[in-house]
Amino acid sequence: MSRKPFIAGNWKMNMTAASGAKLIAELAPLVKDADCDVALCVPAILIPEMTKAAKGTNIAIGAENVHWADKGAFTGEISAEMLKEYGVKYAIIGHSERRQYFGETDEGVNKRTLAALKNGITPIVCVGETLEERENGLTEKVIARQLEFGLKDVDDIKKVVIAYEPVWAIGTGKTATDEQAQETIAFIRKKIGELFCPMCAQSVIIQYGGSMNAANCKGLMAQPDIDGGLIGGASLKLDFAQIVNYNK
Ligand code: PEP
Repeated sequence: MSRKPFIAGNWKMNMTAASGAKLIAELAPLVKDADCDVALCVPAILIPEMTKAAKGTNIAIGAENVHWADKGAFTGEISAEMLKEYGVKYAIIGHSERRQYFGETDEGVNKRTLAALKNGITPIVCVGETLEERENGLTEKVIARQLEFGLKDVDDIKKVVIAYEPVWAIGTGKTATDEQAQETIAFIRKKIGELFCPMCAQSVIIQYGGSMNAANCKGLMAQPDIDGGLIGGASLKLDFAQIVNYNK
């Protein structure tokens, strides 16, 4: 089954309206012939300006999170409907930094995922183990739990993107080897097959994330189950274009 690769950036709490628009203007001509889908997930406050900056390009704009409620007394939060108004196509959900620093749980990931889907936004659901969990042989157990609870009640799993992001590889410069990433992503695909159906598992886009850069992207993207990347640090510079053009 052929799956269209998908490379997405995650700016985190970086960039301003001015520097972000400048980067998009510089990236646009470099990525225009990409064979993969391309997105930049940006801080919520930058979404209106970045949507304008990316207009007419093949760069889609995504959010870094989304709340589960349609509206209400949730100070500081942003709903899927609000994101949709600006043409947001993707929302990262359950990033390890959200889980680690903001107490997000698998249950919250599930509610956010369902809210995104209900509003036609593609959730990029992040899963991954900590170093301690890997060293204790718990990688598969942890990821199975994250998938089982995070994706509960999803009707059409093909509308969800999964990002496998080993926590120990995020922002550390320590990438999972091609084999480690492939092994765990193959496990994720198998688990999705069990939770949903084996055929749909073959259609689900699964990205790798964790210190992916211009130098290591080719090897990772050559793995049979790796369909793309979620890129943090390297999405803040023109290196992002090299990753997008990994096959050129
Ligand atoms: C991320 O935060 O999603 C990420 C993969 O970051 P980095 O590429 O900087 O490791």
